[in-house]
Amino acid sequence: MGFFSSSRKQFKIPKEDLAKLAELTKLNYIIIHCSDSLVPAHDNPKVVDKWHRARGFTCIGYHKFVSRDGTEWKCRPLDKKGSHCRAKGRNNDSIGICMHGARGDFTKAQYKTVQKIIYRIQKKYGKLIIKGHRDFDKGKECPTIEVKDKFNV
Ligand SMILES: [Zn+2]
Repeated sequence: MGFFSSSRKQFKIPKEDLAKLAELTKLNYIIIHCSDSLVPAHDNPKVVDKWHRARGFTCIGYHKFVSRDGTEWKCRPLDKKGSHCRAKGRNNDSIGICMHGARGDFTKAQYKTVQKIIYRIQKKYGKLIIKGHRDFDKGKECPTIEVKDKFNV
């Protein structure tokens, strides 16, 4: 195990649900979110998947979920539309990353992992604009941090 190495895990979305997701045909943004919880038992995409299904989503709405220990959970495939930012139609041209935490409380390991994800996605899809959920939806606090100050964007 290397210094600051963190793991990547796959959150399994049932095939029949994956089949319901629309294709993401354009990509301009990466949007950062928070889970709005500091409850350790919520530090799992399984819990967020349950919350989102209860709201009527097909499955967890994010493409990535990042745990407090820096683990990257792959959720929706990057070529499928997410359900994470309805404001300004952003679900149509963005990838959504959720950090488990609230009120500006996130770990160093999470920041490292999210930065790594940003670099990896940009390497594959080209330069994208990195924003926080609240940058598009003024009624929201999410992700409770100033994204441009926290990441190299
Ligand atoms: Zn959000």
